Amino acid sequence: MVGARLRDNKGGEEATVTARMVVNAAGPWAGRVAALAGIGVSMKNSRGALVALNLRWVNTIVNRCRPPGDGDIMVPVGTVCVLGTTSVPTDDPFDTRIEPWEVSRILEEAEHMAPGIERTRALRAWAGVRPIYDPGSAGVGREAKRTFSILDHAARDGVGGFVSVVGGKFTTYRLMAEQTSDLICARLGVSAPCTTADEILPAPPNMQAKPHFLGARLSRLEHGATPGALICECEIVTRPQIERALAAYDRPPALNDLRRDLRIGMGPCQGGFCAFRAGAIRHEVCGTPAYETVAALREFAQRRFGGVYPLLWGHNLRQAMLDEMIARRVMGRVLREGDLESAAAPRPCPPPDDAPPLP
Ligand SMILES: Cc1cc2nc3c(=O)[nH]c(=O)nc-3n(C[C@H](O)[C@H](O)[C@H](O)COP(=O)(O)OP(=O)(O)OC[C@H]3O[C@@H](n4cnc5c(N)ncnc54)[C@H](O)[C@@H]3O)c2cc1C
Repeated sequence: MVGARLRDNKGGEEATVTARMVVNAAGPWAGRVAALAGIGVSMKNSRGALVALNLRWVNTIVNRCRPPGDGDIMVPVGTVCVLGTTSVPTDDPFDTRIEPWEVSRILEEAEHMAPGIERTRALRAWAGVRPIYDPGSAGVGREAKRTFSILDHAARDGVGGFVSVVGGKFTTYRLMAEQTSDLICARLGVSAPCTTADEILPAPPNMQAKPHFLGARLSRLEHGATPGALICECEIVTRPQIERALAAYDRPPALNDLRRDLRIGMGPCQGGFCAFRAGAIRHEVCGTPAYETVAALREFAQRRFGGVYPLLWGHNLRQAMLDEMIARRVMGRVLREGDLESAAAPRPCPPPDDAPPLP
């Protein structure tokens, strides 16, 4: 292995990077990436759904004390509470389907831990695929081991300069990194000790300070140095915050990047109101052409709707209808016929296409 060919899916640029060692850390895609080098890495992936409630129902993680099963954990995240999860074997790392039984099971199981929680408003659902390495005895679903393996393809397959790190959990990723680095260092003849266990990772520039304090953003808005127009009422995000976040990128970010940085569009309206305001600020600040702004809004609306779709009842259904009215009828051209329907399809949304300029 001498390197990799890279393609930037946003800008379309391609580059070739050569390296003495290449690490395959592609999670559930690890089998597919190894196959590019003609190597077999067998994965027995498992998909799981999660549901976010519109309230921070608990202030600490609550986990049922029983053998791992569906819907046995509640995790406070910022202003919301996330319930998880299910475990369904899948061959497709892009399989982020959520079946109706998964939502019902998660809500039913949460009710045992927090009676009454089923009546809370569920805001959105999403799913991910767990990378599970199958060396031949991994078991299926919850029986499968969640440990990680580091595969030295020189010793295993006779392909030098190539290592895969497969399986594992988010809670073990620094250990995974340490052991992978140690193997690479041994191959390169480097004897320096690994420091990942001792170094505190720098916070990304736009992230809120931790631990979470529910009133922090309101307090900053009322008493902070840079108050400004409120753009996202649900998550209390102001125009100066958006402008600062935009300035941290060297090219216009997707609205979903702003969402991850600032939680914009993650509250009860799911971007129904703020997406257009944020899109307009991005257009003004970054000077993006109108058709690109429309494409960015379309991608954002599609993805938000994809997470709301499995939870269309009660308040959420009313809100989704209102959001759809605003997006489809008021902002007419933002959505194309079939956009929202395709958002509910069991595949991730495609990146924004090169929409032609608006007439
Ligand atoms: C539903 C669910 C619940 C979970 N719950 C827990 C939990 O409670 N506790 C816990 O510790 N862990 C949990 N995990 C597991 C944990 O999140 C994953 O194991 C972990 O994120 C895997 O990390 P990774 O870095 O190996 O892979 P990923 O985080 O999947 O990263 C792989 C990266 O490779 C990129 N990639 C793939 N192919 C290519 C390519 N060809 N070119 C360039 N890039 C590529 C992908 O875009 C991705 O960014 C959960 C996972 C899921 C899905």
